[in-house]
Amino acid sequence: MNRRALVKQLMVMGLATALPLKKLSALNGNITSTGKRPFHRFMLGELELTVITDGHLIISPVQPAFAPRTDSAAVNTLLREHFRPTSSIDLSMNILLIRKGKQLILVDTGAGPLFGKNSGWLPQSLADAGFRPEQVTDIVLSHAHTDHIGGLLKTDGQLLFPSASIHLSAIEHHFWMADKQDFSKSEFRDKAALQNIIADTQRILTTVKNKLVLFEHPTELFGCLRLELAAGHTPGHTLVRIFSGREELVHIADMMHSDVLLFPHPEWGFFGDTDLEQAAATRKAILNRLATDKTRIFAYHLPWPGIGHARTNGNGYEWIAETYSYPG
Ligand SMILES: [Zn+2]
Repeated sequence: MNRRALVKQLMVMGLATALPLKKLSALNGNITSTGKRPFHRFMLGELELTVITDGHLIISPVQPAFAPRTDSAAVNTLLREHFRPTSSIDLSMNILLIRKGKQLILVDTGAGPLFGKNSGWLPQSLADAGFRPEQVTDIVLSHAHTDHIGGLLKTDGQLLFPSASIHLSAIEHHFWMADKQDFSKSEFRDKAALQNIIADTQRILTTVKNKLVLFEHPTELFGCLRLELAAGHTPGHTLVRIFSGREELVHIADMMHSDVLLFPHPEWGFFGDTDLEQAAATRKAILNRLATDKTRIFAYHLPWPGIGHARTNGNGYEWIAETYSYPG
């Protein structure tokens, strides 16, 4: 992909970068001194969960990607209060791998080669965590944005996970594969860039079509996953509730792109949302439920490794990240 196409792609996702591409390509960082990428592994009941990284995506400037209808003074104040830069927000790309007996389930696949060298680390991260792509039996997609499905294909366009069934919401599949998509309720305005992303999404979904298994909400898979519709970010955007015994973890996918801005102000929104107001309403309703139930959360784009809880704070919420006494 050339520079123009890459920047357009980033723009579509609300991921415009302030860095020149040369510098972006040089920043293939976050590799430990042994050359291995770290992973985070823990048990949830009888399930073994491993968080691996696909890299990261820098959003700059912060607005209008975040809070496109909000006064920038309020946004900058909140960022400063949390000792964060006001010039950019760096999104993690946390990928969850679930082992249940001989079954190996991946939730989302990262950006693949579509977003440059700061992402697309999944194959290496998988190897460093001790897995081979052929071992993955199932892939559950939270939605079909290219930073979640780009990793389904290798750079040569072939399937990276030859043995895996790919589970996707029927609503989501229908939306992207239709002749026309309705982005009239999104804050993203670059129509030409949108056409690029639609073309990439359709190309990927067409390439993997023999592996696709479409599901309706709500549904259960493999006796350990409950898939629930959380529409707004995209029409078929799906939460993955992972359960084993009495333990539970909810993968909230792209419901939250910032711990600092969208927990206190879920209504501020993100311009990658297909329907900004519906996404805000969904965000509020689900945050309310997660905070009330004190549910443990996993988030694709929140700071590594993306595990924590939502808690009420005033009229909004706050993110309480889990902390660990040592890496691993
Ligand atoms: Zn995303």
